[in-house]
Amino acid sequence: MSTETTIKTDGAVAHVKFFEQVNRMFDKAAIHTDHPAGLLDQIKICNSVYHIEFPLKRDDGSITVIRAFRAEHSQHKQPTKGGIRYADNVNEDEVMALAALMTYKCAIVDVPFGGAKGGIKINRRNFSEAELERITRRYTYELIRKNFIGPGVDVPAPDYGTGPHEMAWILDTYNSFSDNPLDALACVTGKPVGQGGVRGRTEATGRGVYFGIREACDIAEDMQELGLTPGLEGKRVIIQGLGNVGYHAAKFIQEGGGVLVALAEYEGAIHNPDGLDIEAVLKHRRSTGSILDFPGATNIPNSAEALELDCDILVPAALEGQIRRDNAPRIQAKIVAEAANGPVTADADSILNEKGVLIIPDVYINAGGVTVSYFEWLRNLSHVRFGRMSKRFEESSAERIMRAVENLSGRQFPRHIFDQTVHGASEEDLVNSGLEETMIYAYNEIHEERKKHDVDLRTAAFISSINKVAKSYLEMGIFP
Ligand code: NAD
Repeated sequence: MSTETTIKTDGAVAHVKFFEQVNRMFDKAAIHTDHPAGLLDQIKICNSVYHIEFPLKRDDGSITVIRAFRAEHSQHKQPTKGGIRYADNVNEDEVMALAALMTYKCAIVDVPFGGAKGGIKINRRNFSEAELERITRRYTYELIRKNFIGPGVDVPAPDYGTGPHEMAWILDTYNSFSDNPLDALACVTGKPVGQGGVRGRTEATGRGVYFGIREACDIAEDMQELGLTPGLEGKRVIIQGLGNVGYHAAKFIQEGGGVLVALAEYEGAIHNPDGLDIEAVLKHRRSTGSILDFPGATNIPNSAEALELDCDILVPAALEGQIRRDNAPRIQAKIVAEAANGPVTADADSILNEKGVLIIPDVYINAGGVTVSYFEWLRNLSHVRFGRMSKRFEESSAERIMRAVENLSGRQFPRHIFDQTVHGASEEDLVNSGLEETMIYAYNEIHEERKKHDVDLRTAAFISSINKVAKSYLEMGIFP
């Protein structure tokens, strides 16, 4: 999954691994910076990788060995941060590549963390709930033993195949061993709200994907180059993967005026040029066990073919390596928004760029998750819900202003306008607004780099992050 076959000019066949592909993207951007080669090498390498193998006692009493990893790519800021995925194809190369992407991603959105990633090589469908809990707790215990987890050390989060439930088990296990109960809540993010999670985290990555696409579509000059009109309204969108990221991206894109013309899951894809309602499709999937045979839509049994359908925006939100040398020439989308990590291989990236496709890179477009994870981490360390100290005060201030205007004008505001205006920000309001600000600001930063260096958006994003990480190393110096 994470390797790509490349035919070299001498006819030899080479497998380009995922981490190597990320490093190629890094090198392509590094040319546009003036940092010393040694410093660039230090930024690029993965600082540490922990391989773990441990036994699981299955429900039937048999024993099976579980293989897992945690990679910490860069400690230029601490803690390191990155999700934990449960998938069959997890391997050392993949976690290193994903950890590196986390370093660059955090820098792009100004989240003060280094990059990390973890993975357990399992297909969660093959394990019971009780077995998944034992696997998660044992994995956490192994991380604790080697100091690979902690509020100031390394903070995991959900990723492919994991969610709030697993994060709660990680917290509870960490809590059982921690000698710092005051800050222990901040050892993991993406927790259920009742366990220190922050409102808005679950939907954050998909919401961020929407903000990023909206921002890109609002730049008239770029849309003109693609032969599109400005704005998301009416744009035809295909989404691959309807998990946490894909579902929420679909929901917000639909609410923002985009038309979902095809949706792809592992069992197949469905297509309707007039649009598919995401909630109705998921309701259908819950009742039938599949998105196929959705009323009014055409079935596409080979799910991957959906990526090649006619559309304006393609959002791969499942796994890496989905758009490769073999299928890239057939991609018809004008914009590819990489909601998943690494869905476009390095070779496919060149092919799409030559075709004039605007690729909104993963290191930017899916950074909403880590941005809101940062907010959750801050909330856990401050032990107070965002908005708790200010909500009522803001409401009273707004009410005083409204009353003063009424007194001066001698007229009364209609009730609904009064109620809408006298509104203090809740935790969710603050989280969503912080996320929106972050995604808009970062898009404008990378867009400026793109114009300045006349490069594609991914190279621009890497230039922005290399400069920020390099600055951090240069300012703090190198130990000893
Ligand atoms: P998830 O497990 O919630 O959802 C993934 C979905 O993709 C599942 O519904 C799965 O059935 C589907 N899928 C798998 N293979 C497929 C295929 N070949 N074709 C179509 N659908 C397929 O995972 P997620 O958290 O939504 O993560 C998805 C991607 O987004 C991953 O690359 C992950 O690294 C990245 N990401 C996730 C977050 C986050 O906050 N969860 C943040 C940043 C990046």
